[in-house]
Amino acid sequence: MSFKNVYFADLMEKVIKRNPAEPEFHQAVREVLESLEPVVERRPEFIEKGVIDSLVEPERIIKFRVPWVDDNGKVQVNRGFRIQFNSAIGPYKGGLRLHPSVYEGIIKFLGFEQIFKNSLTGLPIGGGKGGSDFDPKGKSDMEVMRFCQSFMTELSKHIGADTDVPAGDIGVGGREIGYMFGQYKRLRNEFTGVLTGKGLTYGGSLARTEATGYGLCYFTDEMLHDNGSSFQGKTVVISGSGNVAIYANQKATELGGKVVAMSDSNGYIYDKNGIDLACIQQLKEVERKRIKEYITTHPTAEYHEGCSNIWSIKCDIALPCATQNEISEESAKKLVANGCIAVAEGANMPSTPEAIHVFQSNGVLFGPAKAANAGGVATSALEMSQNSMRYSWTFEEVDAKLKNIMINIYRNSAAAANEYGMKGNLVAGANIAGFLKVGESMLAHGVI
Ligand code: NDP
Repeated sequence: MSFKNVYFADLMEKVIKRNPAEPEFHQAVREVLESLEPVVERRPEFIEKGVIDSLVEPERIIKFRVPWVDDNGKVQVNRGFRIQFNSAIGPYKGGLRLHPSVYEGIIKFLGFEQIFKNSLTGLPIGGGKGGSDFDPKGKSDMEVMRFCQSFMTELSKHIGADTDVPAGDIGVGGREIGYMFGQYKRLRNEFTGVLTGKGLTYGGSLARTEATGYGLCYFTDEMLHDNGSSFQGKTVVISGSGNVAIYANQKATELGGKVVAMSDSNGYIYDKNGIDLACIQQLKEVERKRIKEYITTHPTAEYHEGCSNIWSIKCDIALPCATQNEISEESAKKLVANGCIAVAEGANMPSTPEAIHVFQSNGVLFGPAKAANAGGVATSALEMSQNSMRYSWTFEEVDAKLKNIMINIYRNSAAAANEYGMKGNLVAGANIAGFLKVGESMLAHGVI
């Protein structure tokens, strides 16, 4: 799709020129700008007062060296990032990703998306993201600890409970957050809620681990109900087998669905009897093994090398929960041909623009990441609240708040799409609803 609005077309060109060779960031900006065209028609001041120009430029980019010593005594050097994208509605908030594919463009796209996602939660959190090209896979516990300590030694200068509160993402779970929190506390001599996703013994929130996957299913359930359907009796395919995928599986199953496939970055498993989640949790959360090991204990299941063919499995509901751009146009066409009725994104930007077009033009219900996977960051914000109060809510209390937030995100996104003449287009609706609160706040703050 090309822009009708000349200002947006020029701005997009400027973004590409200013951020060369960062295709993921360009993709994320283009999608949001396309959605905002009808908004600026009604509210030209967002352009006139520089809000849109400022929106696509991070407030701050921090890039640093992360030296650490491996188990052989050899010095390794990685690169660390924190992008503090927008603080109009609250302290920067967003995860840290540890994956060899991390570079500035990935963190920028994630930080940009985070602005709107965080706004959609209705909670006071701005947008940020960080990470490193460090690969935790195959590293010993001590190597991961030394890396995390070195990473935090620099990052600690730039974050704080009221400034910027990082969390987990790909490659960063409870173990990594623990090492980083320990190092922050030591360096600053401060016990504050500076990170979320913490262990329950030192300030973590109940239900945070489950939140993104559960939230994804609450959102999907609401979207299905609004369209006269539900998870009950549906076949579900979930990519990934990490934090988001595991708890999406648990909740989808609880809501009456049957999850028949999951994956990791090497390949996918198909179990027509329904995936044995306890086995996946043992392999992934405890033993940190590859998903193909599943078939050694489940001989009737199949393992296939390579990830993308997971989308050729017949299903009613697809929940991509691995990584960006994992559903291509071709995969989307296979899902449609196999009768898939709903796709909701657990991962960030897992569908290419072409794939989204295939879903939307074939009447597939489509829940975009910034709305559908906002449950993780929403619960992180609830963790911040509990830390500020020095109090803990029960699992049921947090889960009930999460469910309520996800239902509201669906309804607000659907209502915004409706109001701007794009009924059913949750991509546009989420972008608009997320933007409006941030845009109004930026207008109120003046040129800063
Ligand atoms: P994890 O590291 O726990 O799991 C990631 C899963 O995706 C693993 O199964 C991994 O396989 C697979 N994967 C990672 N990279 C690739 C790749 N390039 N190709 C194929 N598979 C891949 O991460 P999370 O579950 O936390 O995150 C998954 C997605 O959800 C990400 O897009 C993240 O940004 C998003 N997200 C996460 C939130 C959270 O609360 N954790 C919140 C909102 C969004 P392998 O083990 O082989 O690497």
